[in-house]
Amino acid sequence: MTRPATARIALNRPLRRLFDYQIPDQINLIPGQRVTVPFGRQTLTGLVVETGVEPPAGITLKLVRERLEPWPALPESTFQLLTWASDYYQHPLGECLFTALPPALRKGRPAREKPDERWTASSTEAALPANAHRQMALFKTVKGAPGITSSALVQAGFTRAQIRNLQQKELIAEATEPQITPLAPEAELPAPTLSDAQATAAADFPADTKAFSATLLYGITGSGKTELYLHYLKTRLQANEQALVLVPEINLTPQTLARFRRYFGNRIQVWHSALNDGERLSTWLKIRNGEPVILIGTRSAVLLPFTHLRTIIVDEEHDSSYKQGEGFRYSGRDVAVYRAHLNQCPVILGSATPSLESWHNANQGKYKLIRLEQRAGNATPPHLELLDIRSRPLDAGLSRPVLNTIKETLARGEQALVFVNRRGFAPVVMCFDCGHLEECPRCDTRLTFHRRDRAMRCHHCDFQMAASHTCPKCQSENYKPVGQGTERTEDSLAEQFPDVPVVRVDRDSTQRKGSIQAILKKVNSGDPCILVGTQMLAKGHDFPNVTLVIVVNADGGLFSVDFRAPEQMIQTLLQVSGRAGRGDKPGKVLIQTCHSDHPLLNALSRGQYATIADQLLAEREGSQLPPFRAMAILRAEADTMQNSLQLLDSLKPMIQIPGVEIWGPLPAVIARKADRHRAQLVLITDNRKHLNRLLTHLCQHLDQTRLPNNIKWMIDVDPQETG
Ligand code: ADP
Ligand code: ZN
Ligand code: ZN
Repeated sequence: MTRPATARIALNRPLRRLFDYQIPDQINLIPGQRVTVPFGRQTLTGLVVETGVEPPAGITLKLVRERLEPWPALPESTFQLLTWASDYYQHPLGECLFTALPPALRKGRPAREKPDERWTASSTEAALPANAHRQMALFKTVKGAPGITSSALVQAGFTRAQIRNLQQKELIAEATEPQITPLAPEAELPAPTLSDAQATAAADFPADTKAFSATLLYGITGSGKTELYLHYLKTRLQANEQALVLVPEINLTPQTLARFRRYFGNRIQVWHSALNDGERLSTWLKIRNGEPVILIGTRSAVLLPFTHLRTIIVDEEHDSSYKQGEGFRYSGRDVAVYRAHLNQCPVILGSATPSLESWHNANQGKYKLIRLEQRAGNATPPHLELLDIRSRPLDAGLSRPVLNTIKETLARGEQALVFVNRRGFAPVVMCFDCGHLEECPRCDTRLTFHRRDRAMRCHHCDFQMAASHTCPKCQSENYKPVGQGTERTEDSLAEQFPDVPVVRVDRDSTQRKGSIQAILKKVNSGDPCILVGTQMLAKGHDFPNVTLVIVVNADGGLFSVDFRAPEQMIQTLLQVSGRAGRGDKPGKVLIQTCHSDHPLLNALSRGQYATIADQLLAEREGSQLPPFRAMAILRAEADTMQNSLQLLDSLKPMIQIPGVEIWGPLPAVIARKADRHRAQLVLITDNRKHLNRLLTHLCQHLDQTRLPNNIKWMIDVDPQETG
């Protein structure tokens, strides 16, 4: 009697185990394929991990129900990548594998696209309001290409809402005839012309696209890194090959996309959080089918099933958004490097402020360093100045010299950017009679006052309540907002400069889809205006008419407990400064601080990032912190701090081994968040392999331990935040 064929299946469950099933006679399975299997009373989608496994003795296996397609949804290389990542980041394999599938395929839907709607114009003329430019453009496009599909229109930059809108106005209708008129291929430009400095850098880019190499492009802000990427792809990538360009979420602006599309037309595809399920499936299929896509995407794009990937570029590689903060806590940048290695292709990491990890790798010769220290075109690096605000009168946080400089800038017809590191109106509301401070009832934090909707909000959980005019404790009216948020700065500037638009950019003002696009468009028109915003403004934007950057307060990162805080503060300040003077006119940066004698700020105003990075790295080496040793954090959260600490304490004997340094367990900096009490245990060692084995062992132990329901634990390898 032959033994039945068996398969080991991964499910999209947070369980560190796989499930064995019997394969029915009539189907053949190979690893990476999607199947459906019975699981309890449900039917779940699964992924085949291996076949021919020894079934456990005495257990009758259930049968695999259905094979969803004859080809593996995850080809071998992607499968290998995710298996590695599951082990490296200590996250259950099933959940890791499923992150490489689009939502539709996770839910077991068929791996094909819905037939696309086709459109024709219903009239020859469209009576639209004069300012409905996009709708008019859409109408003309449809009229010029009868039978054009919705997805082709989306590709061309229109939104599905605009299409529906024109349909409701009966200006366009679904085509009845199945005629196909492809969108006229966009005129694609040849490779961009490079400046001398850029050309020298380009000559150092990896010549061999069929071998692994890692390159760190250290190019100051405005040096034209994007031009170099375009040039590289244009000259090295073959017509049948795929490339991946990773960008931080906010950098995927229409301007960036348009720049890429000018050179590569419809070969450019995007991947980011705002796509709907249909768009994701469509792009995923192109990648899986090996179409010669150049994918511009955020973090999770690095996990997609490319089959002909020949180049990976990670732009703004220092950006902390590359590290996923929950669940599968991978670093998109680090996975990209590993993927290039697996795939034997080049990876290029680009930044004006490289992470100390990458800087260290370059110092050690693991990455090839390319330096580009001149701005492109006629632009020159901005002039940085520290402005000590101790004992200076401030108006909503802004000093006289700052207000005067803004005034001069606007008078010259230029734009100013004001960076505030907090959203909302004020981070604290305090009673000046009884000293009461409004705190979040669920977290160990203060509530932020949002004046637009008169709400008090917690920025660490979803708590909010109506703001009151009087102190809730003593009813005093001497109850006032303290400190600066973007709303307050916006209000104050609007009052001082009533003749120019003041535009606020933060998470609150950009929540609606397309709002950031609208804002950026306004700025790019070049008319005088003042931009007020958070981190969001600091990243990668190219506003040629911004010539003045103001940092309202630089001191936030100076005294933080997190060992990465100085690095992150310098990166943010240099990135935000880098928005000044990118066009033909010189730029100026004024940094307000109460610590103008602080060595780090001084280095910043004098020097280059390279020098500061060397200094910071020397400090890290002195204290043997990452990247000189490997770090992982074991976190616990429970209904009491004691339970969290106890769990971590009970693990200590297992990890007290030579070569592993342990900090804690200690309460987290915000010890209580959303009513959960959080503690952490930090592990540091110079042997990554040991650390990995130790963590695997810990996970197995914890999985087998019966913990009370309300205790949760998680592991963060290479944590970005250590508080
Ligand atoms: P980075 O990403 O390095 O900060 P960008 O790629 O955004 O810089 O380029 C900065 C600006 O310089 C852009 O407006 C870009 O169009 C322009 N630029 C880049 N390279 C050149 C060049 N060779 N000649 C003229 N302008 C250039
Ligand atoms: Zn009071
Ligand atoms: Zn809270």
